[in-house]
Formats: sequence, C-alpha cells, structure tokens
Amino acid sequence: MLGLMQDWPLLISKIIDYGACQHGSREVVTRSLEGPVHRTDYAAIRARALRVAQRLQRDGIAPGDRVATLAWNTWRHLEAWYGITGAGAIYHTVNPRLFPEQIAWIINHAQDRMVLADASFVALLEALADKLGCVERYVVLTDGAHMPATRLRNAVSFEDWIGEVDGDFRWLDLDERSAAGLCYTSGTTGHPKGVLYSHRSNVLHSMAMAAPDALGLASRSAILPVVPMFHANSWSIAFSAPMTGAKLVLPGARLDGAAIFELIETEGVTCAAGVPTVWAMLLRYLDEARARPSSLQRLIVGGAAAPRSMIEQFERLGIEVFHAWGMTEMSPVGSIGSLKPALGALEGDARIDVKCKQGFAPFSVEMKITGEQGERLPWDGKSYGRLKVAGAAVARAYFRDATPILDDEGYFDTGDVATIDANGYVQITDRSKDMIKSGGEWISSIELENLAVGHPDVAEAAVIGIAHPKWGERPLLVVVPKPDCRPRPEAILAFMSGKIAHWWLPDAVSIVSELPHTATGKLNKVKLRELFREQRLPAA
Ligand code: AMP
Repeated sequence: MLGLMQDWPLLISKIIDYGACQHGSREVVTRSLEGPVHRTDYAAIRARALRVAQRLQRDGIAPGDRVATLAWNTWRHLEAWYGITGAGAIYHTVNPRLFPEQIAWIINHAQDRMVLADASFVALLEALADKLGCVERYVVLTDGAHMPATRLRNAVSFEDWIGEVDGDFRWLDLDERSAAGLCYTSGTTGHPKGVLYSHRSNVLHSMAMAAPDALGLASRSAILPVVPMFHANSWSIAFSAPMTGAKLVLPGARLDGAAIFELIETEGVTCAAGVPTVWAMLLRYLDEARARPSSLQRLIVGGAAAPRSMIEQFERLGIEVFHAWGMTEMSPVGSIGSLKPALGALEGDARIDVKCKQGFAPFSVEMKITGEQGERLPWDGKSYGRLKVAGAAVARAYFRDATPILDDEGYFDTGDVATIDANGYVQITDRSKDMIKSGGEWISSIELENLAVGHPDVAEAAVIGIAHPKWGERPLLVVVPKPDCRPRPEAILAFMSGKIAHWWLPDAVSIVSELPHTATGKLNKVKLRELFREQRLPAA
C-alpha cells in the first residue's frame, strides 16, 4: 500500500523558491572580480536565475543539455546554477586549474553547448576555441562595461544576455532523478571521469550537510565557502545556504589570508569551509597581523588531510574545527568530524586526536571497510581496509562510461584506505592510488612520470608527494638516467615545463641509480616514500 502523502519532487528550483520566499532579503555578498564587494539577496538571485533559464531556452538549450561554467564563486555563478537547472539543463563545472588540454577534453566529452565564464578566463578559452566545436555560445559573467573584446563565438556579457528577457518563466517540472550537475574527477590513469549529480541527490546531500553535526546552518548563520563551486559542488554550500536562510559570503578569486580575514570580519562569518592550503594561508596572515577572527565559530577543513598543528591552532583561537572527508563521487561529503556526546568531554590531546580523524558519516551515507577478499573488517580503529560507500548522493556510474563501479552489495570503492573506530569515526590512512594533492587539487604522478621519461636521457621515473607546509604536498621526481647519460635536474624540469600546468611541475628532481619495484615489476611507491622520508623540498 502506498502512502497518501504528496509527491513533492526534490528539485533544485525548490531550494531557491524557498530561499526567496522565507529568507528573501537574506544577503549574498561577493568580492567581485571587477573589484568592489557586491550585495544581493535570495529574492534577487531567484529573479535573475529565472531570466537565465528563460534566456537559455530562447538560445535553444533543452532539458538534459550541458552548459559549462568556468568561474569563481560569485553571485552570477550562483544565478547560473539555479537558472541552468531550472531550465532542466545540467551545469558542468569546469576547473580552471586544469591543464588547457584537459579542459578541452572534458568540454568535448560533456558536449557542452554553452560556456559561461569569468572574464579572466576569456584568453584561456580563446586559445582553446578551435578545439571546442560543440560550444555554440560563450557568455562572459560580467556586465557590458567590463566586457572584454573577444572573438569567442557569439560572445555576450551575462548582463546583456539576461537583460533581453523579463524573467516571466516557470521552472521546468522535472523528475527529481533528472541530471542537474556534472563534475569531472581526475583519475590516476586514463581520462577524467564525469560524475553526474541529480536534483534529488543534490537536495538530499544539501539537507544532510545543513544539519547541526555538519555545517550547522541556521537562518542566523553566515557561511563562507572558500572551496570553489567547481570543486565538487562547493561541498553543497550553494544549496545548503538558501535552504536554511544562511547568509552566503562568496570570495570571488581572492583566496589569500588577508582577503579571507577581511570578509570574515566585515560580514560576520560564523562558518567557513575550505581545503587545508587556504587555512594555512589564513593562519599565516593571522600570525603576521596579530589578528583573530571575532565571529568565526566553525571551520570545515577537507579535501586533504588537515595537519594536527592546524587543528590545534584554530581550536586555540576558540574556533571549532570540523575535519571532513569526501570525494567528487560523493557529492562530495562522506564524513565530518563533529564530536558525539560520548567524546564531548574530551580535552587537550585526546580531543585533538579525535579531531584529526575525518569524522563520522552523516545520514544518507553508509560505509564499510573491507579486506583483501572483500570481507567486512571490524570498526575497532585498528583494522584498516578499503573504504567503500553507498548512499543517496553517491555515484553509481560515470557519465558516458559503461564500466561498472559498484560491488555486489552496491558499494562504491573510494580508493582510500581507512580505519573506522567503535564510535564510527573514519581515519584515512592512505590512498590506494598515488596521486599528489597540492593545495587541494590533484596532480597525477603517472602523468608526470610519463612526461619525464620522454626526456632523451631518462630511463625510468617515479613521482611521489612530499609534505609541504603551504600546499600540503608537492611532487618530487625521482629518475634513473639511461646508461652513460648524466641529465641535469634543471634540464629535465625545463623539458617538462610548458607541457603540463605550471603548478604540476615537480619541486625537486633526485637522480638515482635504480628504483624499487614490486614482485610484478611495478614501481614500489611505498618503498620509495620510505627511502625519501627525510626529503625536504627546496622552497619548504
Ligand atoms: P576529490 O574527488 O578531488 O575531492 O578527491 C577525493 C580524495 O581526496 C579522497 O578520495 C581522499 O583521498 C582525499 N581526501 C579528501 N578529504 C580528505 C581528508 N580530510 N583527509 C585525507 N584525504 C582526503
């Protein structure tokens, strides 16, 4: 027997409708790319998102079409997301930090029909435009006065574009399982993989994230997502904020310590979320300026492991640190480090020990750790195994890719290795893959190795991550020269430079006579890391 309650579809348009209705005058504040701080509110965001949807439809964008965004966190980017999804189309967030060739690859793979981009990315797009045959129109997220001269196809400023319609539009009535967003994740091998979020998964994930043990949002909160909207949905904040009426403070392109501190202070930010690298920059600024955030209560740190010293420093300032773990395939949050009542009384080192773990799963996420044969391992804080997840906002397949990704029980293998303790707290001990995470962004070791062995004097190459105080990790390249060759480190780096994003370039090169291998002839990275355990990088 079915229940007799209404089928109220979990659509993204419901979020902004609610935000505009109940919290219409609640502010959305942006440090604009043009310079000044810009202020709007949820009612205006909704009104302009309606115009975006109407304008997209007039340009022939149909339900299911992909519209790319290449942009920092700003109010226009937010309006674009709500407008695109309200028209039944799919926002595809492109990470501008990718190497241009990868950007071209994913735009083509997604078959994006339009690109909405910040003015600062116009030159990048112009260089790629010949390869982007699928893109029919470029909308620059600015106004007519700041519109750069460009030869991009059918280019128009966002303000002129939405200025041509009146906003008399009704959000499309969609199945809540319809695709809403697309975000590519870079794997260790092969091409990036597209994670295709649905309206339902985004709404459920955002509700779970708004809860007190996660972002803890209320209408009186003010939240600052330093995490970019192009990085796994900005951890749901663009949805969780209007869903609760929290004030939304968007940092634009300035993520340095001084800029972030200023926004926190002037806007009364109570909760902020970002990767360890940005919080390291903020700590350095606080130290230099002898400043202390006055309103900040809760700091979410995730995307890479938060160092213990960072957690300690923020907690000493009276700011509670919530260490979170997740991945693009999980929308992205899988666990978050709020203290359960059994642990609430802990003090000193014992409290920090728990805070260093990545927390427990919120409602809507199920977890298991498994051993060699796929058997479930106990939650004893000691047994470690592959961390696998299932849930309302976990991927079941990649976009345009038939490869099965779930096990017999319907769980997705995260590729991370973890322990789970008796209280349900996850601790990531390693990742099964060997990617390097610099400033919250991935660097593929394999790609660097493949490039390095392209140098005529290099026989074999391996790349490992070395701890770095600012970026978390930076790549170290270890090479074995060909017989009778003596390549200089500078020459190898010069050879690699220009073929990869500049921030992918290894910080150091070490020349060795041989590399450790496993029984099957693969590079033994575990051994290699042991060998270079004491290694310090030049800039560090
Ligand atoms: P991405 O999909 O780019 O967000 O990367 C997800 C991966 O980042 C995870 O599979 C982990 O390996 C890593 N990661 C994310 N958060 C944490 C964390 N708090 N501690 C350790 N590793 C993390």
